[in-house]
Amino acid sequence: MTCMASAPSDTDELFDQFLTDRGHETEPQRWDQSYNKKQCPDCGGLHDDAATECSVCGWYPDA
Ligand SMILES: [Zn+2]
Repeated sequence: MTCMASAPSDTDELFDQFLTDRGHETEPQRWDQSYNKKQCPDCGGLHDDAATECSVCGWYPDA
């Protein structure tokens, strides 16, 4: 469990609720969004919208 580095948005809250409903923990398992780019929630690396996994740390969405 890492500290939340960014302020949660409405979308984050909705998604957290979605994960909670599915019985998952509330760790983010999808891309964050920053300036219209995908942001890795693990290392914070920015990627183009076409990215399917983080080229920095190898993280990918669990979906
Ligand atoms: Zn990463």
